[in-house]
Amino acid sequence: MQKLTIVIPAYNEEEVLTSSVQKLLDIEDQIAERNSLNQKADILIVDDGSSDHTWSIIERLNLETSRIRGLRFSRNFGHQAALIAGLREAVKTADMVVTIDADLQDDPNKIAEMVDKYADGADIVYGVRNNRDTDSWFKRTTAQGYYKVLKLLGVELVPNHADFRLMSKRALETFLTYPERNIFIRGLIPKLGYNTTEVYYKRTPRMAGESKYPLKKMLTFAWDGITSLTIAPVRLILIIGALACLFAVGMSAYSIMMKLLGLTVHGWSSLMLSVWFIGGLLMISLGVIGEYIGKLTIEVKGRPLYTIQNVLE
Ligand code: UDP
Ligand code: MG
Repeated sequence: MQKLTIVIPAYNEEEVLTSSVQKLLDIEDQIAERNSLNQKADILIVDDGSSDHTWSIIERLNLETSRIRGLRFSRNFGHQAALIAGLREAVKTADMVVTIDADLQDDPNKIAEMVDKYADGADIVYGVRNNRDTDSWFKRTTAQGYYKVLKLLGVELVPNHADFRLMSKRALETFLTYPERNIFIRGLIPKLGYNTTEVYYKRTPRMAGESKYPLKKMLTFAWDGITSLTIAPVRLILIIGALACLFAVGMSAYSIMMKLLGLTVHGWSSLMLSVWFIGGLLMISLGVIGEYIGKLTIEVKGRPLYTIQNVLE
């Protein structure tokens, strides 16, 4: 008999948590009934340092049923850290783990399909959105652009897949051997290999509460994605720098010729332009290189990714 665990990261989700958990328990029951796979399926909720009643809700649910477990961070460490803590804990006892957001915007009814694909031999089943109607125009366009940029930089991502996925025990164990701290989970999973497949679903609006991903968090997340997955930007700058140097050689030849022809004084504007241009390039390069050095510093320090304050079993 195979065991399923559903992992939910939750940050200030008091408005949706109770109903989401109820829905997921029902779904686990249906799955158990359908294919005698996992009678003892459970749910692990990771409270990412919520400041509302999220943790007391988890405590209550844990008292009501032994199928709800909880981890509580000592402060807000972020969505990705919460997922990793949940996965590390879940993999100890589960044969397959599904991760899903607390607001159930990703269709939980598709979990049964994911489990079927697992039973057919898939190790990783990606939940992929087949529409982005519920996103604002802004989020839609920036997301599309982001996938394109990452692709150009040579990063393999499953488009329109976020963190709704099923993973088998062995895929998870492999994933958890990656020691890095700057983790952009969805960019790392395609590197694992194994049998992968997809299920498609329609993403619905949040039931209640508001997004826990304001623009600033989203931008940081996007930038971390790029800089933790590829060093292409540094290479790109190297190439631009080389081209700029070539251009400068051409310019020198040109200005010497102009001088020989006695036409030197004007050219102030082109001089100014190039000074600014090169100055800008230099600053960008320093910034990007600094970013990677910063990331290196963080990895070298090896600080823990999160701190668990309470555990409910
Ligand atoms: N989340 C978290 N820590 C954070 C921000 C978000 O654990 O710092 C959780 C949140 O509770 C939810 C999931 O991550 O379960 C996705 O967040 P949200 O639904 O707000 O993001 P959106 O759907 O708006 O992109
Ligand atoms: Mg959401």
